[in-house]
Amino acid sequence: MDKQQIQHIRADFPILAEKIYNKDLIYFDNAATTQKPRCVVEKIEEGYYHLNANIHRGVHYLSQKATEAHEAARTIVAEFLHAGKREEIIFTRGTTEAINLVATSFGEAFCKKDDEVIVSVLEHHSNIVPWQMLCERKGLKLQVIPMNEHGELDIDTFKSLLNERTRIVSIAHVSNVLGTINPVKEIIRLAHEKNIPVLVDGAQAVPHIAVNVVELDADFYVFSGHKIYGPTGIGALYGKERWLNAIPPYQGGGEMIATVTFEKTTYNELPFKFEAGTPDYIGSTALAEAIRYVQNIGLENIANHEHELLTYCTQRLYEIDGMRIFGTATEKSSVISFLVGNIHPYDIGMLLDKLGIAVRTGHHCAQPLIDSLGIPGTVRASFAFYNTKEEIDVFIEALKRVVIMLS
Ligand code: PMP
Repeated sequence: MDKQQIQHIRADFPILAEKIYNKDLIYFDNAATTQKPRCVVEKIEEGYYHLNANIHRGVHYLSQKATEAHEAARTIVAEFLHAGKREEIIFTRGTTEAINLVATSFGEAFCKKDDEVIVSVLEHHSNIVPWQMLCERKGLKLQVIPMNEHGELDIDTFKSLLNERTRIVSIAHVSNVLGTINPVKEIIRLAHEKNIPVLVDGAQAVPHIAVNVVELDADFYVFSGHKIYGPTGIGALYGKERWLNAIPPYQGGGEMIATVTFEKTTYNELPFKFEAGTPDYIGSTALAEAIRYVQNIGLENIANHEHELLTYCTQRLYEIDGMRIFGTATEKSSVISFLVGNIHPYDIGMLLDKLGIAVRTGHHCAQPLIDSLGIPGTVRASFAFYNTKEEIDVFIEALKRVVIMLS
């Protein structure tokens, strides 16, 4: 994408024109959440102003329109992930809720004492804790795939961890700390050789790379809307139909039932079996709009531009003495975690903030990963398609000043 295209895109994001402490905002915290284009915010407004009525149950005009919009959003998410069937898409509050759903419902149906669950060392807490809770509930053991010094998973150890007690593998597509793009297709193939299903946490993948769940042969694939320019509080779980049919509902309530008597309740068909209560039909519609927006720019264009930013920023960061970058995988997305000498990451983040630059500091909800690196945390800069090389130049010069001040 050329400069003019980027400027055109930036104009769609009003927040990028904000001043922070009288400085131009430089937003490099996209792995935590992305900014929203005007069309997504307008979709939310349009929903509440013109389309608002509870869905599915109503015979009246507005209810039918809202239902159509929600179900059309499901189709858009299904097409986006290249799911075979739209019924395989369950709307959730996000990645976290989707993983909790699978850990609870799959765990209930298929796991027993002494079984094992495999995750990796680079997981976000939301892909660790739900499985630990299952382990505590039912007496399972959590197994962890280690990584090498570049932040790439050790596939040989993974192979040796797969055994007849393994019930499920749950793995990030892209690390939110190191940027590593994991070889999920190979991981899934190896697990499937032993008939073990795989959940892929796509929270950091879908905004950056095209995902085809059928080609990957993923059993479950989850993501959050807010990380792909959509609203907070909405996300999706893709599950193969046979798995979704085989596991019990996660929550009980309205909409997920077929019939209810005090003696017995029968459950609704997919996808409604997993969508108890009033769904976020405004959120789903706005998420669909965000996906449309991203598809208009094109994921290939996005990946190319972000790769340029990643390469340029990495190269410029090494101009600074004492620079240590964590995560140097060959396959890497636009996330850079670093430390400078012995300076605490929090101090760097705080001073950058005063210069209008938003980066994240700390353990990034991946404490076991940070512990394994033997560091207190990192400073993390993460890029989106609306970021520019000029912003990186400002960031590098600001960082040089900050480092001098803190040294
Ligand atoms: N997994 C990964 C890899 C993430 O980066 C995040 C968010 N930082 C999550 C899961 C959790 O996403 P959410 O908080 O939107 O549920």
